[in-house]
Amino acid sequence: MSDVRRISIFGATGSVGQATADVVLHNRKSFDVQVVTANSNVDALAELAVKLGAKYAVIGQEEHYKALQNVLLGTGIHVSAGAAALIEAATVPCDVVMAAIVGMAGLPPLMKSVEQGCCVAIANKEPLVAAGTHLMEAANASGAKILPVDSEHNAVFQVFDDQQKKTIERIILTASGGPFRERLEDELEDITPAQAVAHPNWSMGAKISVDSATLMNKALEVIEAHYLFDVPANQIDVVIHPQSLIHSMVEYCDGSILSQMGAPDMRTPIAYCLGWPSRMPTSGQKLSLNERISMEFYPADLQRFRALQMAYDCLDAGQERCGVFNAANEIAVQAFLEERIGFNDILRVNAYVLENCEKFSIKTLADVVNMDNTVRTFTSAYIDNIRQNSKKVYAS
Ligand code: NAD
Ligand code: MG
Repeated sequence: MSDVRRISIFGATGSVGQATADVVLHNRKSFDVQVVTANSNVDALAELAVKLGAKYAVIGQEEHYKALQNVLLGTGIHVSAGAAALIEAATVPCDVVMAAIVGMAGLPPLMKSVEQGCCVAIANKEPLVAAGTHLMEAANASGAKILPVDSEHNAVFQVFDDQQKKTIERIILTASGGPFRERLEDELEDITPAQAVAHPNWSMGAKISVDSATLMNKALEVIEAHYLFDVPANQIDVVIHPQSLIHSMVEYCDGSILSQMGAPDMRTPIAYCLGWPSRMPTSGQKLSLNERISMEFYPADLQRFRALQMAYDCLDAGQERCGVFNAANEIAVQAFLEERIGFNDILRVNAYVLENCEKFSIKTLADVVNMDNTVRTFTSAYIDNIRQNSKKVYAS
């Protein structure tokens, strides 16, 4: 690989996408930007494409094609639009791809990137949860190097000694506990989307912020860790660490616990992935140990944080239930953000769908996609049905 890395950024206008752009701009001479993508924000995408000197700008929603073309007229940046264009963009030769689309929408371009055999930095956790086996098998087949961007998994990746895997006793994922850590479930019934997306330590997109508030984010991360590191569920623990300074840990058989710590700033794990196996500077926050800081850790109560128990149950049941869980959650979070259901209903919907949705046989990636679509329809119908019957459990 030459000193200059060709990079593509999928989901460039999002929280992780913009932090990635920031790392690239901070190390301008180290990168040659190929592709930037977004779903619908034409102006933000065009601005980033110009600023980063990208060769291709791809917008997910086809109806924005003309607008994007107009804004980028005369820049020489190639413009395309639509789901197929996103997949095609993943075939543009690259050294490292940042997968930072949110949700299962990111699966097709992510899988295509993995099939190309380059380094693939994955922030987009939902496809790992629903199609972890398929993505890791595809990486093995193509030789792609999967680099975890999620701060917990990036921390584990930094201290996980593959050569000593047999001596690893457990992965310990840290969780801030989200904004409602100290509140009881019945105090959360009337939480609004605005309150739920205000995370105390991290600034993130709406979906992951809601997931952090319900602890679904940590639930998805337990599943994500299982697929990324091929470690069984009973060797993955969660501890609450409200300060988000230790980003996760690996415990070895001799009692050593190795961890990675730093300020809660996504530019650190992003830079680690973009430069891997080297390190590069960022303009992000640094953790100062010149002042007094304290750190707390306590076990995550699985009865209280029900999402976590659901994740362990899904892992026991296999990848199929993990995919069902993820799809139900995406629909429930969307319904909550649109104020169609209440905050506590998110987990109620997840629990209902896990219990009542049919079982799927998933062998191929197409099976995963079909399952995902069916569960979305099932979950949406359930939400509509309950709302029509205006059962009490749902907010009006
Ligand atoms: P975000 O909502 O801020 O950004 C999402 C990006 O995906 C945007 O560029 C958007 O245009 C694009 N996108 C959305 N829907 C799309 C679609 N249907 N087709 C194509 N593109 C689409 O989200 P985010 O917070 O940056 O998170 C991105 C992913 O990274 C998520 O899976 C999240 O769980 C994960 N992640 C985020 C953080 C964080 O700090 N934000 C940390 C760890 C992991
Ligand atoms: Mg995380």
